[in-house]
Amino acid sequence: MNMNKYNIQPTEEGFYGNYGGQFLPEELKKEFKKIYEAFLYYKDDADFNSELDYLLKNYAGRPSPVYFAKNLSDKYGCEIYLKREDLNHTGAHKINHSLGEALLAKKMGKTKLIAETGAGQHGVAIATAAAIMGLECDIYMGEIDIVKEKPNVDRMKILGANIISVTKGTKTLKEAVDEAFEAYSKEYDTAMYAIGSAVGPHPFPMIIEHFQSVIGREAREQFTEQTGTLPDCIIACVGGGSNSIGLFSGFLDDTQVDIYGVEPLGRGKKQGENAASMTYGKDGIIHGFKCKMLQDENGNPANAYSVASGLDYPGVGPKHCYLNEIGRVKYDVIDDNEAINAFFELSRTEGIIPALESSHAIAYALKLAKGNKYKRILVNVSGRGDKDIEFVLNKIKI
Ligand SMILES: *Cc1c(COP(=O)(O)O)cnc(C)c1O
Repeated sequence: MNMNKYNIQPTEEGFYGNYGGQFLPEELKKEFKKIYEAFLYYKDDADFNSELDYLLKNYAGRPSPVYFAKNLSDKYGCEIYLKREDLNHTGAHKINHSLGEALLAKKMGKTKLIAETGAGQHGVAIATAAAIMGLECDIYMGEIDIVKEKPNVDRMKILGANIISVTKGTKTLKEAVDEAFEAYSKEYDTAMYAIGSAVGPHPFPMIIEHFQSVIGREAREQFTEQTGTLPDCIIACVGGGSNSIGLFSGFLDDTQVDIYGVEPLGRGKKQGENAASMTYGKDGIIHGFKCKMLQDENGNPANAYSVASGLDYPGVGPKHCYLNEIGRVKYDVIDDNEAINAFFELSRTEGIIPALESSHAIAYALKLAKGNKYKRILVNVSGRGDKDIEFVLNKIKI
């Protein structure tokens, strides 16, 4: 086997092929270089890793199990296995990179985390990591999202985070990112910017992948132990691309394993109806890095939509763009209705209520299962659906 043929690391400048990089003002480049150097040092530091491993195990509840979904498998005529990131503390994979980022910030001598959040999932995970690490936490959030996502806002407040309401422009995630970044530009001596997915300027995509790669490492070992072989294919949903790159990284160089990234088709193919950046995007620069990006007529980031708010980002991680270009991972789409159907299907067949984001991956797994091409499918359940219950019940009468 050719080691690491596909599971590449970025160049010194942060490029994965044509994608990634670091499009930042000079002043911030210096600070990002410090983050890069600290990361390279601590990722191989024994004390850092034993502290992080302790937290992942005893605080976050890792390893998350791989579960053979027997009922679903019987029904669809194919072995379907679930990687249960929904069982993590705070209910999703986001705690993995949040603990890593917070510990890195602390080792770098920072006293505060700065982050933005849209639906509030990233904000809750970062506020949680800040609390346990004894760091201050400023969360930037659009005024509209603050109203819409009240339960998560309340959680963040209970956890001790400051919520800063962003009132510019569309008053949602896009402006929240800008304001969080502006605040960070002024406070970087004492604060660390804590990104929420495998996106952003170098070195953040590689940092997030590193902290999420625990999913793929565990899954590969657990799956092999249970079945004596590798899965025929693996599947994860793709927003910015953190849960997916975490799973994929464990299997990229096993070329007998087909890999699928599932993007949200939302309500349809038209601009503003979906958030399928890889499928419908064009090369562009967003938030300091180059990727496939949904664009309006003027080449600016277009509004993205999905019923799963954790997936509605107009860009996608640079390593995914590279993996798409070389054909190692196939990116495909699932729409709102298919995701909601899968949400109910998994709930009623297995007693597991998945997040609407994860429901996209499950819907795709069921499609592939029906296609009879694969014997064993492994799908990442990135999070639990508690946060989506009220929304789903308002939308659908059961
Ligand atoms: C945020 C979120 C996602 C999407 O983010 P990625 O960075 O693409 O993983 C997926 N699932 C859940 C449960 C989330 O909270």
